Amino acid sequence: MSKQFDVVVIGGGPGGYVAAIRCAQLGLSTACIDKWVNKEGKGVFGGTCLNVGCIPSKALLDSTHKYEEAHEKFALHGITMGEVKMDVPAMVQRKDQIVKNLTMGVATLFKANGVTALEGTGKLLAGRKVEFTNHAGVSEIIEAENVILATGSVPVEIPPTPLTDNIIVDSTGALEFTEVPKRLGVIGAGVIGLELGSVWNRLGSEVVVLEAQDSFLHTVDQAVAKEAKKLLTKQGLDIRIGARVTGSEVNGDEVTVTYQDSEGEQKITFDKLIVAVGRRPYTEGLLAGDSGVNMDERGFLFVNHYCSTDAPGIWAIGDVVRGPMLAHKASEEGVMVAERIAGHKAQLNYDVVPSVIYTSPEIASVGHTEEQLKANGESYNVGMFPFAANGRAMASTDTEGFVKIIADAETDRILGAHIIGPNAGDLCQQIVIAMEFGSSAEDIGMMVFAHPTISETVHEAALAVNNSAIHKA
Ligand code: FAD
Repeated sequence: MSKQFDVVVIGGGPGGYVAAIRCAQLGLSTACIDKWVNKEGKGVFGGTCLNVGCIPSKALLDSTHKYEEAHEKFALHGITMGEVKMDVPAMVQRKDQIVKNLTMGVATLFKANGVTALEGTGKLLAGRKVEFTNHAGVSEIIEAENVILATGSVPVEIPPTPLTDNIIVDSTGALEFTEVPKRLGVIGAGVIGLELGSVWNRLGSEVVVLEAQDSFLHTVDQAVAKEAKKLLTKQGLDIRIGARVTGSEVNGDEVTVTYQDSEGEQKITFDKLIVAVGRRPYTEGLLAGDSGVNMDERGFLFVNHYCSTDAPGIWAIGDVVRGPMLAHKASEEGVMVAERIAGHKAQLNYDVVPSVIYTSPEIASVGHTEEQLKANGESYNVGMFPFAANGRAMASTDTEGFVKIIADAETDRILGAHIIGPNAGDLCQQIVIAMEFGSSAEDIGMMVFAHPTISETVHEAALAVNNSAIHKA
């Protein structure tokens, strides 16, 4: 007799594993299938985020941030020390250990919650059936009342720069360098390109970022984007906008990239090249021809507002469906779907999904940008407050950037927040909470903020929306 579950989840990234845990918590018998095999040849859960995404990139960002601080900031505090050195293999090993701990943590959570972990590949067949093939190649058919597809995404490759083993790499390869490349090229000035470019720039690489778009961070509020470009350039990133890569040639252990910009054809040579031009939904081998699940024209699984596909009982979440490719969006969709399967009326507020770029300083945003509101013809007020006027930021010599809050001109309801500065990701979360509760800027202005905290910048920016900031000259 074939195995039967209330829910089978295909994909164990932050979308799939969270969905599986919530399903089990809601009393549904649940299995989660994932085919990821780690560097040691072991099947693991956690997906892109834990294995080669959010977590390892932040581990390297944190190590290199500390290195940079030791180099450049400690002396300001009166701290002197001997020569500061970075042992790159040790840094990478620390990152690997964190990844291992976290992926093992998912396995522990599965056990604790009673989720059946199935290591191998899942394929959706018609009639809510799943073909599971384990890593030894043995297949079986599993029946499910509901199936959640959470197969994530993979890096986009571009024809001018095919990946080579060790010279032209994607984001995964860029987490594995064993020494600091002298000349590093990054194609794509998006979140991943800027984060990985920052990691290696801090360790001494000469980093050139080639971006095809004519504006920098074009989806980010442009006041923040402008400040980010200024600060990242000051740190040493050579960001070239309007630079469209057309070809590459690997010679020995270097690569020469050809690109086109407003002045014509250019050539530049690097020791390593990171291709970070975006990610695409991953559905290879996932669907039988008669599964009943449809895709949109860009290859995303087609779902409605509640992540239900066109096939009854089949749901899809995370990077493999429309919306921002973010771990927390994937997880919350997982929770929503689990709750809906259990008969609850859960929903997700897609208007209030924060996004963070973990450069230094961080760049965080939620809601509408000023450019979007302008284009929609909406009237709004803006409040801005610089970190340079915040006592706590001054005490830690972390004064770059600002908080910008945008509120509806008529109702004062907060429409968006855009922050570049220390702990921007955490500060932005305060506005996420406020927006979720429909707060006005005045609501935040009337709240008590502890002094001296970096959070006071949020308070002052909210006050500034209605021209009443206190510490503004
Ligand atoms: P994934 O995490 O991609 O997981 C999908 C899983 O499905 C994989 O484990 C895969 O093995 C499995 N799978 C696929 N097909 C099958 C199949 N047929 N059978 C069995 N298993 C299958 N997001 C953030 O929010 N914050 C960040 O700071 C951040 N940093 C990032 C840094 C980098 C370098 C990268 C690459 C990404 C980063 N992201 C970040 C994006 C984040 O990793 C993704 O948005 C998130 O992992 C998506 O989750 P998911 O569950 O949809 O898919």
